[in-house]
Amino acid sequence: MERCPLCRAALNGADTCRRCRAELATVKRVAAEARALGDLALHHLSLGDTEAADRLLRRALVCHATPEIRDLLRVTASLLAEASPSSAAPLADD
Ligand SMILES: [Zn+2]
Repeated sequence: MERCPLCRAALNGADTCRRCRAELATVKRVAAEARALGDLALHHLSLGDTEAADRLLRRALVCHATPEIRDLLRVTASLLAEASPSSAAPLADD
């Protein structure tokens, strides 16, 4: 996380924003967890386990919805739809 999500000030690695004094340690931890879930999903995807990848990506989306997570979810949704056209869960747009 390079910028404060509240005021957009540069963080330079700090857990507290120098401008608005927002405490961001928890936000940074959740973002890191979402990145780890995305990395694990990519690993499962590389092994051909699309269902596990999809589950992990949906968890990551709840924690920290990034464009990368959304793009990967489109990939898994497409793969799951190809594998089983009648049972694939659609990815809800927000
Ligand atoms: Zn701030």
